Amino acid sequence: MTKLADIGLIGLAVMGENLVLNMESKGFTVAVYNRTTSKVDKFIEGRGAGKNFIGAHSIKELVDALEKPRKVMMLVKAGDPVDSFIEQIIPHLEEGDIIIDGGNSNFTDTIRRTEYVEGKGFRFIGTGVSGGEIGALRGPSMMPGGSKEAWPHVKEIFQSISAKVDGGVPCCDWVGADGAGHYVKMIHNGIEYGDMQIISEAYQFMKDVLKMNYDEMHETFKKWNTGELDSYLIEITADILAYKDEDGEPMVEKILDTAGQKGTGKWTGIEAMHLGVPLTLIAESVFSRFLSAQLDLRDQASQVFPAPEISFEGDKTEMLENLKMAVYGAKLISYAQGYNLLMEASKANNWDLKYGDIALVWRGGCIIRSAFLSDIKKAFDNNPALSHLLLDDFFKDKVQAAQPGWRKVCATAITNGIPVPTLSAALAYFDGFRTKRLPANLLQAQRDYFGAHTYERVDKPRGEFFHTNWTGEG
Ligand code: NAP
Repeated sequence: MTKLADIGLIGLAVMGENLVLNMESKGFTVAVYNRTTSKVDKFIEGRGAGKNFIGAHSIKELVDALEKPRKVMMLVKAGDPVDSFIEQIIPHLEEGDIIIDGGNSNFTDTIRRTEYVEGKGFRFIGTGVSGGEIGALRGPSMMPGGSKEAWPHVKEIFQSISAKVDGGVPCCDWVGADGAGHYVKMIHNGIEYGDMQIISEAYQFMKDVLKMNYDEMHETFKKWNTGELDSYLIEITADILAYKDEDGEPMVEKILDTAGQKGTGKWTGIEAMHLGVPLTLIAESVFSRFLSAQLDLRDQASQVFPAPEISFEGDKTEMLENLKMAVYGAKLISYAQGYNLLMEASKANNWDLKYGDIALVWRGGCIIRSAFLSDIKKAFDNNPALSHLLLDDFFKDKVQAAQPGWRKVCATAITNGIPVPTLSAALAYFDGFRTKRLPANLLQAQRDYFGAHTYERVDKPRGEFFHTNWTGEG
């Protein structure tokens, strides 16, 4: 009898193909299936040739080829296809078998699916998989959540294919119940949106205010990547800025300035609104993509409102150092806000998320991987009950040190009409966060004036509410 497969995978697209090749290279036998079955044959005869794969042309064939408890993983387009495959898989399963969704599913769908699949006597895992095509092949960051009893059955496969840091620590660990894994992946993607927008603003500042050429910008990002900004996104930005088109011009200059998105950043912003968390940097980065996509409107507006003359006569080297501080300061805020949302979500969903471990899972393999994540891990190791990252001593000192340069960059950008939505939103958040008395007293008075919404007083205990007859009428 032929050997049964350790795991089955549905979805031989970019992620699925690379992930199964990764699994096979670690010694696992993988059964594969795809809705368009010709892709199964193409894979078995192509990249999978001579390797330990079992090609299946139906879901039944796929499930029958698996060791028990069966593990069926989907890496298909998020949304309805996932529900449709769950319905197709279930009739072939036995009690205790495991369905895994590795796509970018919305966590609310994963909560619903976990309950549904568990209700049928099976187990469900919703796992974030980050790192794109290369990550899937060489070692992604993985964020599994769902039916906890399923974890011991997939742990070995998941941890052996995941990225490793610090001499072998896997960037994959159990995150929590039902939708916790996909939630953490959503926050990861939101932070990714923020990091990308911060870097893009720095690029525009270098190019338009400091009048740097592409070689200079490439060198700067390369240098930044050797210090506290050391990260995958800074590294690829340096590469991208050095890349020339066939005519020798920088490739980036040929690319239309309209950003696409698949929705995970938007979900993060919506979730922040639901939980009442000030996630300003990620929200700004999503809005910046929307603004970039309004190409025709921006074209009209650029003719109506000519750009201010850019004048910068200061010390370029000094301003570049300030820019580095602005990028770092904004990044500190972005992660602090992202963790603030994680903490509120953990409470709201009873997930008991391990914040330091999540930073470690993101430390390698994924798009936001950076040296900086080790500092987050340390902050939570030092104080597991930390209420906000900016209150950790390391982060407190870093944000303080970043402030002066960061303020100069925002002021210079604003004076010269250069948009820095995330750099400035992060600074505004920081100033609000550290301000003892905000103008919300006036806001409360307005609410009470027009709607009798009442207010609390500074000289009375919290929870006592007052109303004033502001007009003396009635
Ligand atoms: P994808 O383009 O999102 O999906 C393609 C796969 O889904 C194919 O197997 C396709 O089958 C199947 N599919 C599409 N519509 C279907 C439908 N209506 N019914 C049944 N099957 C359907 O593939 P991907 O880029 O590899 O991504 C897979 C998952 O990983 C997605 O959830 C994605 O968001 C997530 N993800 C992607 C990346 C990335 O860098 N690409 C990174 C992280 C996570 P056919 O071949 O028959 O069309």
